[in-house]
Amino acid sequence: MKLGWGDGGVQVKDYVFHRDLTKTYPIITHGKGVYLYGEDGKRYLDGCSGAVAANLGHGDKRIAEAMALQAEKAAFVHTMRFETPVLHKLAEKIGKLAPGSLNRVYFTCGGSEANESAIKLSRQYFRNRGEPEKQVVIGRWLSYHGNTIGSLSAGGDIKRRQPYNGYLLPFQHVSAPHCLHCPFNREESDCETKKDWSCVAELERLILEIGPSQVSAFIAEPFTGSQAGAVPPPKSYFREVRALCDRYDVLLIIDEVMTGFCRTGAHFAIEHYGVEPDIITFGKGVSGGYSALGGMIVHDKIIDTLLQYGDGKFVHGYTYSGHPVTVAAGLAAMDIYESEHILRNVKGLEGHLFEGLDNLRKKYPFVYDIRGKGLFFGIELASNQDGQPFPPDLRIAERLNEKAMELGAVFYPGNGTVNGYAGDHLIIAPPLIISEREVDELISLLDDALKDLADSLK
Ligand code: PLP
Repeated sequence: MKLGWGDGGVQVKDYVFHRDLTKTYPIITHGKGVYLYGEDGKRYLDGCSGAVAANLGHGDKRIAEAMALQAEKAAFVHTMRFETPVLHKLAEKIGKLAPGSLNRVYFTCGGSEANESAIKLSRQYFRNRGEPEKQVVIGRWLSYHGNTIGSLSAGGDIKRRQPYNGYLLPFQHVSAPHCLHCPFNREESDCETKKDWSCVAELERLILEIGPSQVSAFIAEPFTGSQAGAVPPPKSYFREVRALCDRYDVLLIIDEVMTGFCRTGAHFAIEHYGVEPDIITFGKGVSGGYSALGGMIVHDKIIDTLLQYGDGKFVHGYTYSGHPVTVAAGLAAMDIYESEHILRNVKGLEGHLFEGLDNLRKKYPFVYDIRGKGLFFGIELASNQDGQPFPPDLRIAERLNEKAMELGAVFYPGNGTVNGYAGDHLIIAPPLIISEREVDELISLLDDALKDLADSLK
């Protein structure tokens, strides 16, 4: 079979090592706005911004031109020796967006590296303070922080961890607050009113069990993203967690790789909860997906410690940290976030998207739950009204997405497993430049895919 670019049949696919070698994928030649176009002429509405990264849509010449211009000026500058104007400007813009005393920005090539850097920085912070034994990171089941060994060790994605169990660092995990499937059988309103949080108490117990003198950091996604399907936390959860971290001198790392840069209707999702973390990690949306860019925003107290109780050095770095071309893409993206009032568009369309999705919930009994904020929603699929998950071998979320792709839309399917619960979900997270008409089209295509699923389940 010839599989090519359509220009004479170069067998490109034979040379690509995909993460799933059993599949073939449609070839995309270009994109414009919220749409991607295949070489066969097929159009896909990008209902999940790729991997929740293409926040500003596709084919934006302003970002492409900024990258080209920077590549011409200085494509590579080693940040161990030099800086560039774009590096300064982007760090300033991100530092100013971040809450409170989070000011210093460190760049990486994506989210995994960002979390790896945050894990190492938390260790170095305590080493510099003369507490080298404070090095255990606590993460949460159902969370994903990346695929490098440190970030995978901090994450609680059982399927991704399993093949590498022998390699993983001895980090510990607690339950994520997934109130719909609360592992403690509590009601969210009960936790809020009584200020009695079983999941926070579990974290405190674990800190005490390990010993506060051994625990360096607690890492959490503000919304449990790819594993649980865009689940926002209960309102006061992070305030309780922040208090606990303060009590035991544990750094709070908030992973905004998926939620940062307007995705949830705030610059960073943690803003919804009035909490100042010690480190925010970011990726994906920072460049609108135009370049492989990520990083962390660091609290002044950590920077002061590196300067006062050490030689001012963070013993860590990458060849491509602060790469001028990737950073230029980030800077052009920041300009567009501002000039196109992206945050306003997200807030303006949040209700419309939710209403459309909620109508689908009312129409299809197996759409069990719709949750989320901004333009970041999860649809949970269940086999009955009690939320009983479908058997995993039915591949419900994958099948739904495959049908949607056939019809001309793409979403982000997932299946999370924890505390005896294993369910299917679809993340809906279109580019933040989407219009009301395009939201309607997204809902209509999803409706058709759900109808097909409903028929196949009869
Ligand atoms: N953290 C979160 C919350 C993510 O969703 C992801 C990717 O999906 C990562 C980290 C890893 O980022 P990357 O794939 O850019 O390494």
